[in-house]
Amino acid sequence: MRLCQFGQNRLGIVSGGDVLEVTSALGALPPITYPLPIHDRLVAHLAELRPKIEAAARNAAPQPLAGVALKSPVANPGKIIAAPVNYRKHFEEVRADPQIHFNNRIAEIQRAGLFLKAPCSLIGPGDPVTIQQPERRTDHEIELVAVIGREGRDISREDAPGYVAGYTIGLDMTVRGPEERSLRKSLDTFTVVGPWLVTSDELGDPAALSLELTVNGKPRQKANTRDLIMGVPELIAFASSFYTLMPGDLLFTGTPEGVGPVVPGDLIRASIDRIGTMEVRVRGVPR
Ligand code: MN
Repeated sequence: MRLCQFGQNRLGIVSGGDVLEVTSALGALPPITYPLPIHDRLVAHLAELRPKIEAAARNAAPQPLAGVALKSPVANPGKIIAAPVNYRKHFEEVRADPQIHFNNRIAEIQRAGLFLKAPCSLIGPGDPVTIQQPERRTDHEIELVAVIGREGRDISREDAPGYVAGYTIGLDMTVRGPEERSLRKSLDTFTVVGPWLVTSDELGDPAALSLELTVNGKPRQKANTRDLIMGVPELIAFASSFYTLMPGDLLFTGTPEGVGPVVPGDLIRASIDRIGTMEVRVRGVPR
């Protein structure tokens, strides 16, 4: 199943080049009271909702995907966990280029650990990335994103696949410079997720997916998840040794080599095998 969110709080199933609206299925979510849970309620209840979603899709009139504004397929991730340097060639690229590393200590993921991106930086491909500091270098980073499906702590590598609801594409937009990652990777619009969530049963094993990113049609990043230093199961085991994972948490698995700058007016096109392609506009701060 390919789940998308679009327009004003609308839920859809993607089928070929069309979206089938299934927003009515959200009416089956249990009522909520304050304080709100710190997880995504749709992902948490996806198994129960699935028959209702499928029934709604059967009755929906197809709308062309090209005509809808896609949002992040996970609306309310409690946290966004990210791997800093998780492809060997990107590690080498970062170490070799002072315009990327800025004398920050660069270590492999086992030593560098993980970082968090703020949920308030999240957008979908229907919204533009906004460059707030045009005098600074802002880079694209394409990443496979695993969406956590259920709560877990200290998850073993062997059990990890059972904790994944599905996969999507992420752009970990990054200002290069000496500041903490929070100040460079969590600006508004700097976490782009889309175009939809492909459930694990449909995607299968994420261990050998090709990724590709172009800017204005020119190739920038091209790699395969088989070159991840820590694959998805290892990352889930690693992350869950620090954080209790919750339904809807997003796990950015790290970017491969080929990172580079974008400027207002650019069009980023990001594709991952068995997921799809998303196009994202880059703009300056509107004046
Ligand atoms: Mn990244």
